[in-house]
Amino acid sequence: MALRLSRSIVGKAEANAVNRVLLEDGYLGMGNEARLFEEELAAFLGVSAEQVIVVNSGTAALHLAVEAVAPAGGGEVLVPSLTFVASFQAIAAAGCTPVACDCLRQTGTLDTKDAEKRLSSRTFAVMPVDYASNPWQLDEIYDFAARKGLRVVEDAAHAFGCRSRGRKIGSFGDLVCFSFDGIKNITSGEGGCVVSFDSDAARRISDARLLSVEGDAQKRFAGGRSWDPDVRRQGWRYHMSNIMAALGRVQLGRLEPEFAPARRALAARYRENLAELAGLSFLRTSPDDFIVPHIQPVRILNGLKDSVRQFLAERDIPTGVHYKPNHLLTYFGGGAVSLPETEQLYGELMTLPLHPGLSGEDVDSVCEAVRDALAGESRR
Ligand SMILES: *Cc1c(COP(=O)(O)O)cnc(C)c1O
Repeated sequence: MALRLSRSIVGKAEANAVNRVLLEDGYLGMGNEARLFEEELAAFLGVSAEQVIVVNSGTAALHLAVEAVAPAGGGEVLVPSLTFVASFQAIAAAGCTPVACDCLRQTGTLDTKDAEKRLSSRTFAVMPVDYASNPWQLDEIYDFAARKGLRVVEDAAHAFGCRSRGRKIGSFGDLVCFSFDGIKNITSGEGGCVVSFDSDAARRISDARLLSVEGDAQKRFAGGRSWDPDVRRQGWRYHMSNIMAALGRVQLGRLEPEFAPARRALAARYRENLAELAGLSFLRTSPDDFIVPHIQPVRILNGLKDSVRQFLAERDIPTGVHYKPNHLLTYFGGGAVSLPETEQLYGELMTLPLHPGLSGEDVDSVCEAVRDALAGESRR
């Protein structure tokens, strides 16, 4: 079977859980399963259930988190350009302006020195991204935000199950957003959540996911609705269905026994196989962090990325590029600013297949092809 760059790993247990909602419960919207998913996520992270708000995508989580802390009339959010376009679109959706920042070439994560240069009187938040699940220098980013009086909306879409210096991502911070889309560390089909360490923001986000009908989420969790509601602000239809939550609950239970060790072992095997290879390098990580890698990017040096990707494609090995920097996209400035580290790294980044359905031998065969590709190219 052809190798896949990424894929969902779901089976009988997920199918049974979804079946239970469809055939036994018959309530497909946001109800008891969603409440249980919030409680189980909270227990996993070591926070209280009121702090966890499940929604129908990671993008929705980011949108609501930014909106909950944005000043009236909007403002600017510092965000690394090297991220999925969801980060930028979520900021824009909240009526705010994403300000693209450079990254550190060694890690692909936010360069706080560059971010500092882009502060303005309108800056109210920073959105760090745990690029490739790497919570690199998260404490420094929080220190920077505290020094400058900024809120922190973490785009932790890649980092569910990871730890920064021993603490789980989502167990500390300000507003932490996860994605449970089909290929992330765990999935609920589509979906995501906000973990809020600000109780006012948590309440606003919980309501905003249900059209800002005040207190409706709690009523639905108890099997009811608000029939005499008040609405005081903009809201969205972003709640998570019981179908998604049932799937997500099963996946959460599989993370630590199955998915995390599998992803970590495959990533370690890539490193062992390719560590000494000239013309390729890995992004830097800290031994103090615990990484459950969502993707496996490598840097292909000396301008050979495109030809290496082409060589691999001819051997039926899919590769990706995470990501085209957002400051180069038309809607976000079309390259009006230049971010040299990000642009250099973008020219090098190639993502190799990584998901728990791969075997060690699959990784070995990808590595062999990468070695052949680089050997062939350096002879040219
Ligand atoms: C996946 C992802 C998102 C968005 O999550 P969805 O659940 O797909 O909406 C946001 N940011 C990053 C970095 C992502 O990888």
